[in-house]
Parts: sequence; structure tokens; C-alpha cells
Amino acid sequence: MKFIDEATIEVFAGKGGNGSGSFRREKFIPKGGPDGGDGGRGGSVFAQADRNLNTLIDYRYSKQYRAKSGEHGRGSDCYGAAGDDIVLKMPVGTTIINADTGLVVADLTEHDQRVLIAKGGDGGLGNIHFKSSVNRAPRQFTKGKDGEQARLKLELKVLADVGLLGMPNAGKSTLIAAVSNARPKIADYPFTTLHPNLGVVRIGHAQSFVIADVPGLIEGAAEGAGLGHQFLKHLSRTRVLLHLVDIAPFDETVDPVREAVAIVEELRKYDEALWQKPRWLILNKIDMVQADERKARVDDFVKRYRKQTGWEGPVHAISSLTGENTQTLMRLVYENLVQQMQVEFPPEPDARFRAGSGTLLDPSSTDSPQE
Ligand code: GDP
Ligand code: MG
Repeated sequence: MKFIDEATIEVFAGKGGNGSGSFRREKFIPKGGPDGGDGGRGGSVFAQADRNLNTLIDYRYSKQYRAKSGEHGRGSDCYGAAGDDIVLKMPVGTTIINADTGLVVADLTEHDQRVLIAKGGDGGLGNIHFKSSVNRAPRQFTKGKDGEQARLKLELKVLADVGLLGMPNAGKSTLIAAVSNARPKIADYPFTTLHPNLGVVRIGHAQSFVIADVPGLIEGAAEGAGLGHQFLKHLSRTRVLLHLVDIAPFDETVDPVREAVAIVEELRKYDEALWQKPRWLILNKIDMVQADERKARVDDFVKRYRKQTGWEGPVHAISSLTGENTQTLMRLVYENLVQQMQVEFPPEPDARFRAGSGTLLDPSSTDSPQE
């Protein structure tokens, strides 16, 4: 199942600098000729695909990108300097659409692919260009042209990197709401009643991942409707599963260990490969346990759970409601995803420099106003 992550940005290429109408003025030379140089070209805005990015979330934080104007031409045949280009890095797979016309501007399909999205304005001509045999002292010069500007919609189909498992009421929706602030739309989603709850978790600039809560595992399985199976299939592309357990159930007759084991059994029944995926145990609602009882409660849970399932893996106690430990958990998840990626795609340390000239700009490193 794919989700559509999207953002709308505005890009402004730089204006060209004006040409100069200057004349040479030197001592003892009464009639100096024209010496006004051309204005510099305005900076252009490019988009460049980067396989190290996987969401568009940073473009929700800063939305406007301006390249610098070219400098004006000056006397003494001085040409104005060109404005620097800026390069916006986007995930491979991003489609760039003109938001006003709806036309596709570009599809970024390959790493390092670079496309022009707003062309800088040409610099104006200085008066030296207008000199001729009949006009030896031209006063004409032309002004720099405006840079292009555009409102662009960015779209990216994303797969969930992290799946959430757990009984109803374990706190899956609450966790997603606590750690993510962007909700991609659901793309080709066949079910109308049970929606996966999705979020993009932003760790830092250009560091993010997609988390999906997939409801219906237990409900669907119990109904025998095959719904559970469908949902599980969607989890198959994730890299880590977080198994959320309510460590302090309101109903004291409920044994959280028994419930957690039941979930894992469902998982195994449906898909052995999914069951073997990296799975972390997340003991939620730790705020409901007295501080001095927490360690004993967690230790007891883990001991019994391991004994019944033979599972070895990371365990974290969190509170989705108060936010306790949730940020730390997300950072650890992110680091784990990066490690898995690096095994598949070893990093190329010089990738930033191969792309050519232009200031490489990470979207969140600008000081555009925050959303
Ligand atoms: P889901 O069915 O797994 O999506 O669970 P929800 O996120 O809807 O949460 C079920 C209930 O548990 C809601 O009333 C939440 O407010 C509550 N809840 C979720 N996380 C926590 C937590 O960490 N501590 C406490 N005390 N309540 C929580
Ligand atoms: Mg929910």
C-alpha cells in the first residue's frame, strides 16, 4: 500500500542585474566613451533527486525558496556577478507539478537527476553594447529581466517504514499523533471503513520516516473476513514493527502478556516472514504505573513474554499520552532504519559534491518562516 506525501512550495528565481549606462571619466580625457557593463544573471532554482531522502516533510516546514538576484553592471566595463543558483533536494520518486496549471514539471526518477524549476532572469545590457559609428555616446542600457517564479506541488508515493501492531486501545493512534505532525493521504486504499493511521516522523532536517498504524489485525482475523490478512500484507514492506502493549490495562483481569502473545501468534499464522521481521516491544501507558513499581512491572512482563515466545529484541517503556520516552524511541527507530539502509545502499561520501555547482540547500536549513 502506498501513501501520498505532499507539500506545496513557492520558488523564485533571481532577477537579472541591470546593465550600466556609465561613461568613462578620466582626468584629461574630456569625452570618455561608454563603459557600462552588463548586469549578472539571476540565480536559478533547481530540483535534484536524492536517494537519501524518503519524505517531503521538510518542505512543509519551509515553503519559499528564493535565489539571489544578479548584481548590476557597473562602470569601467564591470559586469555584475551572477546570483547563486539554489538546488532543492527531493526524494527519488518525487513528482513536481505546477500548482496553478496542474501540469507536471518533472518526475525525479534517478538519484542526482537535476531539473530546472525556475530560471534566473537575464542580466541587462550595459551601454557598451549600444555604441556604434553613429552613436558614440549611447546612454541606453537595459534592465535585468525578472526571474521565473512558480507555485509547485510536490508529490511522493511513500511506503511505510515502520508498522505498528497492537490490540485495540493499546495506544497506537495516540502514539502516531504524539510523534508525527504530517499525515500523508492514502493512495490506493481499498477499504473504506478501516483506515490505517499514518504519520511522517521528523527526526531532524532531511531525516524522517513514515509510520503506519494498521488496524484490523485482530478484528479482521477474528471475523475471519480475511481483512486481517490484507492489512498484514501492507506491513510486509516495512522494516521494523513496533508492537505496542498496554502495560496497565484498566480491566485488571486482562493479562497484557497473554494479549501480546496472542498478537504475535496471529502474526505468525498469517505470515512467517512478517513474524521474523525486526520487532520491538513497546510497553505503553507507563504513566499509569507508579514510578517505583515500573521497573518490576516491565521486568516481569519481559521475562514472561520472552519465555512464552522465545523472542529476543529491544524493549522500551513509553507513554504516548505524556510523551515520556517517545522521542528517544523515534530516534532509535530512525537509527535502526538508517543502519538497515546502509547495508542495502552503502553511502557515497562524495555524493554531495558530484552534483556540480550551485549551493546545495537542505530545505530546513533556510530561515523561511516556520509553518
Ligand atoms: P489504538 O486503538 O491502539 O489506536 O489506541 P488509542 O490511541 O485510540 O488509545 C486508546 C486509549 O488509551 C485512549 O483513551 C488514549 O487516550 C489512551 N492512551 C493511549 N496512550 C496512553 C498512555 O500512554 N497513557 C495513558 N494513560 N493513556 C493512553
Ligand atoms: Mg487507533
